[in-house]
Amino acid sequence: MTLVSRYSRPITALIILIVGGFLIQHSMAEKLFSTSKLTDETVSECASACGLPSHVNLGGDRFPVLRTDAEWQERLTDIQYKVARQQGTERPFANPYHDNKKTGLYRCVGCDTPLFSSTTKFNSGTGWPSFFTPIDKRTIGETRDVSYGMTRIEVHCAVCGSHQGHVFSDGPEPTGLRYCINSASLSFEAADSAEAIKELVEAWYREAK
Ligand SMILES: [Zn+2]
Repeated sequence: MTLVSRYSRPITALIILIVGGFLIQHSMAEKLFSTSKLTDETVSECASACGLPSHVNLGGDRFPVLRTDAEWQERLTDIQYKVARQQGTERPFANPYHDNKKTGLYRCVGCDTPLFSSTTKFNSGTGWPSFFTPIDKRTIGETRDVSYGMTRIEVHCAVCGSHQGHVFSDGPEPTGLRYCINSASLSFEAADSAEAIKELVEAWYREAK
């Protein structure tokens, strides 16, 4: 056996191993790259992957968007002001979005931050719009609410402080949560598809103010 033929098999095997390894690594890298692109299936994935806009500093002790009481009253209708700024609750079933089945984006009525997507809305039977998750947990603040002799978790917009509703732990999968939200705290923007909602969300995250 010559020296060349003695080593040719292990060398061939080694080459196959190196090339194969490179190809596998390359395809994995491509897969990782494609999942981080802005064409993901869900709206939330895109939001949590994005940094918050520069004007939204959630680390401070004040809400990033502040308005005077007169400005709030100017911006909001009576019921919106009562619910969003005075911790009110609108009547069940007699509100615009509890039965809204259209595809689209729900923004905070006080500052237009995208808070909920129709893709996570479900029929809770309560008479209020219900979602199993917000778009981005960073933009939803929580406080303990002990009013009316109950202990509940109040939720509000973390950007402007507008009261949204409450979150309960009897929601459907995949989160098991039920965000019970007032229509009066939301504005609705219809969209053609989940992809279109995501584009609206991304536009907000990209916005420089
Ligand atoms: Zn807000």
